[in-house]
Amino acid sequence: MKIQSIRGMNDLLPEHSAIWQYVEATLARMLAAYSYKEIRFPILEKTDLFKRAVGEVTDIVEKEMYSFDDRNGDRLSLRPEGTAGCVRACIQNGLLHNQTQRLWYTGPMFRHERPQKGRLRQFHQIGVEAFGLAGPDIDAELLLLTARLWRELNIDQALELQINSLGTAEERATYRQALVAYLDGYKNDLDEDSQRRLSTNPLRILDSKNPDTQLLLKNAPALNDFLGAESKQHFEQICAVLDNAGVSYVINPKLVRGLDYYSQTVFEWVTTSLGAQGTICAGGRYDSLVELLGGKPCSAVGLAIGLERLIMLLDELGAVPDSVDQQVDMYLVAVGDESYQAMQLAEQLRTALPAIRIETHCGGGSFKSQIKKADKSGAAVAIILGEDELSSNTVQVKFLRQERPQETVDQASLVEFLTTNFEK
Ligand code: ATP
Ligand code: MG
Repeated sequence: MKIQSIRGMNDLLPEHSAIWQYVEATLARMLAAYSYKEIRFPILEKTDLFKRAVGEVTDIVEKEMYSFDDRNGDRLSLRPEGTAGCVRACIQNGLLHNQTQRLWYTGPMFRHERPQKGRLRQFHQIGVEAFGLAGPDIDAELLLLTARLWRELNIDQALELQINSLGTAEERATYRQALVAYLDGYKNDLDEDSQRRLSTNPLRILDSKNPDTQLLLKNAPALNDFLGAESKQHFEQICAVLDNAGVSYVINPKLVRGLDYYSQTVFEWVTTSLGAQGTICAGGRYDSLVELLGGKPCSAVGLAIGLERLIMLLDELGAVPDSVDQQVDMYLVAVGDESYQAMQLAEQLRTALPAIRIETHCGGGSFKSQIKKADKSGAAVAIILGEDELSSNTVQVKFLRQERPQETVDQASLVEFLTTNFEK
């Protein structure tokens, strides 16, 4: 019996890895341009970290974490998201004291959810966090950065920015009371999840997908009416930067986000091109988290991009540039006992032409079968080294994708020949 992978945990196959590399490289370039630096931290952390950071009554902590006791009996969890570990690492390494930090990270996250399109149990995020900046300009910077990224990846036409403000913790607490008082009157009409959330996490009821619940919410008190002047101003200033930069957005008063740690700004970039799982990127401000995890109070704002969904969207829109492939450019054919000279020639070519991809035939075989493999490799040319070529210090260059006669080229001028014929 073959052993299968875990449901919801996918392999990334070679035919698809070029697009991942393209997206990751584009992101890394863009983040560097905004002066964000990469941070790496473990995939495994103490379960308490996520309980405290994400919140005990969130879906993630209540039912989605992969947790286990290690050999010492310590309770550990695979990270379901990156912010908690990032903040933990920053506090532990003294990165936040009297400093600002603009950071990013990438890697796998783990959540035991029901696997479906755009929802996996191991998925990948690129996360971005900025510390020590109270905003609202830094909040806006993150939105400009992502807007630019979508333009760069050619998917901006399919994404809509939704933003909202959750206000301060105090403002939210007052609102929470008003919301609970209102919904209590309709308790029996709420769906089961929402009934439970009424006492644990009532704000989450706002983003219930249940149409009846949504109907009830039409006349519910609005969070916006509970915001104080400062919160309102913070939000308006972000909107002003976006207006100025020509980034369009929709204010969505029902947007509350699933995690406990947000305050003030929350946002999502959503698409209608992927069906139900349409949020590609989500984030917001979380000014209280650093202190909650034992650091000195420190402003923070961040976002996470779901890479599987982002790449699905690129595929869906046909936005992957033609240059994104892993095809080799040249295939080196060596007939007879010439293989070690072929290896040497390939090494010389790689030194002289570092951007060109060369596959060397290894393992012998007839001329005909090697040419077949050269063709199958997708290479533009086969470079052939046989006994005759060896004794005359030449090679044959066979064009595999053009109607063009084979040419004999001196080994001494091969680099020049390839440079003029295959600009890369
Ligand atoms: P959703 O509402 O789709 O469940 P979320 O609010 O749980 O998302 P976040 O925790 O904010 O998501 O994570 C940020 C991004 O990571 C999401 O917008 C999405 O693109 C991606 N993401 C989250 N969970 C998954 C998953 N199980 N599989 C694939 N991608 C995911
Ligand atoms: Mg979720």
